Amino acid sequence: MTEWFSETLHPHWRQSFAADRVLLREQTAHQDLVILENQTFGRVMVLDGMVQLTERDEFVYHEMIAHVPLFGHGAARRVLIIGGGDGGTLREVLRHKTVERATMVEIDATVVEMARDHMPMVSDGAFDDPRAELIIADGIAFVAGAHQPYDVIIIDSTDPFGPAEGLFTPAFYGACRQLLTPGGVLVVQAGVPFLQPREIAHVNAALSAAFPEVAFYAIAVPTYVGGLMTLGWASEDAGKKVPDPAVLAARVAASGLAFGYYSPEGHAGAFALPPHIRAAARG
Ligand code: SAM
Repeated sequence: MTEWFSETLHPHWRQSFAADRVLLREQTAHQDLVILENQTFGRVMVLDGMVQLTERDEFVYHEMIAHVPLFGHGAARRVLIIGGGDGGTLREVLRHKTVERATMVEIDATVVEMARDHMPMVSDGAFDDPRAELIIADGIAFVAGAHQPYDVIIIDSTDPFGPAEGLFTPAFYGACRQLLTPGGVLVVQAGVPFLQPREIAHVNAALSAAFPEVAFYAIAVPTYVGGLMTLGWASEDAGKKVPDPAVLAARVAASGLAFGYYSPEGHAGAFALPPHIRAAARG
């Protein structure tokens, strides 16, 4: 009989996957990790009952969390990723040939190992790229002790529970700002506002306490259920958010990259939020 896996993120409503195969069920040092296979979405990674990514739709999140800050910045050479254990964000960052170094700081070595074993299509060789540096550590402690500056910092974390809770605070965002080069850009995941309105309000307040320029952009990821998901954007330089259309189009063309979701027009349009999301962000 098919086993059904139900996500436990929302108390009164759940999405479920028919688990054709459960490839892994493991209590790591930090969280409960499940990797299963589903006919519609392919391999699915779940941490502490919450869907992290699926093979079928991960490109949406990973393209948008990487290319919006990188093309918006325009000249990023050093990138820091906090979390992102599956390697999808690292993969998209390293597609930019202009990136000289991408440092990924993930708290849970088992997530990285198991993603490489059971979902290798997500990192697609990124961990073996000589420009990639993997550090197994708590992102909060790493940022507090780091001195090397970064042009772009991407917080690709779990939701603000357990080990990720401290990644959503003004103190952490302030420490990230100290690490950014002038005009550097920070991007963070900020939940699905229709179902998690407090998360975007909280991220907005915390980011705004640390940065002069804060915005949110929306993406549609089928398995982050409940409507549009938002990513928070912060910088000292508002101009790095949505460059002039001709400039952005030229940057994207010069990269030679092709995408499944990202486009220069979609980059600009993603910042045009529906009023109910703007209201949720205000709290
Ligand atoms: N795309 C996903 C989402 O939004 O649901 C996030 C995927 S990624 C697997 C999230 C990673 O953040 C996990 O592997 C988790 O171990 C890591 N993480 C959580 N707290 C962390 C911390 N304090 N420092 C570094 N990594 C952390």
